Amino acid sequence: MKPAQFEQHEPETVEEAVSLLESLDDRAILAGGQSMVPMLRFRLAVPETVIDINRIESLDYLEEDDEWLRIGALARHADVEESELIAEKYGSFADTAPLVADPQIRNRGTVAGAIAQADPKGDWGSVLLAHEGEVVAQGPDGERVIPADDFFLLPYDTTLDENELLTELRVPVPADREGSAYHKLKRKVGDYAMAGSAARLVLDEDGRIERAGIGLTAVDITNVRATDAEAHLEGERPGSELFKRAGELAAEQSNPESDEHGDADYKERMVNVLTQRALADAAERAGLVKRRVSQ
Ligand SMILES: Cc1cc2nc3c(=O)[nH]c(=O)nc-3n(C[C@H](O)[C@H](O)[C@H](O)COP(=O)(O)OP(=O)(O)OC[C@H]3O[C@@H](n4cnc5c(N)ncnc54)[C@H](O)[C@@H]3O)c2cc1C
Repeated sequence: MKPAQFEQHEPETVEEAVSLLESLDDRAILAGGQSMVPMLRFRLAVPETVIDINRIESLDYLEEDDEWLRIGALARHADVEESELIAEKYGSFADTAPLVADPQIRNRGTVAGAIAQADPKGDWGSVLLAHEGEVVAQGPDGERVIPADDFFLLPYDTTLDENELLTELRVPVPADREGSAYHKLKRKVGDYAMAGSAARLVLDEDGRIERAGIGLTAVDITNVRATDAEAHLEGERPGSELFKRAGELAAEQSNPESDEHGDADYKERMVNVLTQRALADAAERAGLVKRRVSQ
């Protein structure tokens, strides 16, 4: 099917894009187009106007400053996959990027577009949640910073205002004894997750877990945090028994649905295993020796 007719605007600055969002009634933002173009073609989206943001060069960055890893709205999945900075310091991002869709989609699709799309099966939302990241949005009244915890509402629905452009995703620069990881189960290359778990651990000088973040994929109506497991971990020494209980708690807190890929019980068991594995890798990357993960 071909898309219905629409007008196309190609702003070159964030201000221009925001003023188009404000002045036009029925419009949609186009970034990498990997979700938007199919929606247009199948007429699941029939906007009068498409605002293509690909000419806004100021949004094309992936960089770190003293405080944050900053991912501009035009950074592609492939930019994360190929980044030396990511490979060196951001384990969960390095794990996730090559697992998203297929190379074609990763070359065009943006990380910010995937977050704005808010598909509960998307991988990046879990990573952003585990890292206690933030979404930066620009609207007619200026910039707004939305904690990842407050961003996802429902499948494909977020707290981004319709006049706002998502400009940046950011996560805190890792502490000295911090590690993170992402594990995903999918049926074959290119598939969305059946389940996924992102883990981030920050250890104190004594080797105890000061801060734990766990984000889950495809097992609830949005990407969600496994808060019971996080609470169980904090203040404790990392180890396989601790991670086993955290995996169980993450599974208990998840809410998967049975579908053609597996029943809910199976997915809960997968949340348990994937969470244990992500925690073990995160602990290793935080500077600890990896322990065996119980199945
Ligand atoms: C076959 C297939 C397999 C996939 N597999 C995976 C997978 O395994 N894991 C995964 O995480 N994802 C997967 N995806 C989703 C993929 O990550 C997204 O399609 C893509 O990254 C969305 O980014 P985009 O830049 O293409 O956004 P677009 O398609 O251009 O836009 C997506 C949505 O976000 C909005 N949007 C985009 N950018 C902004 C912005 N800056 N501000 C406000 N709104 C914005 C658009 O208006 C639209 O509603 C898959 C997609 C396909 C088609």
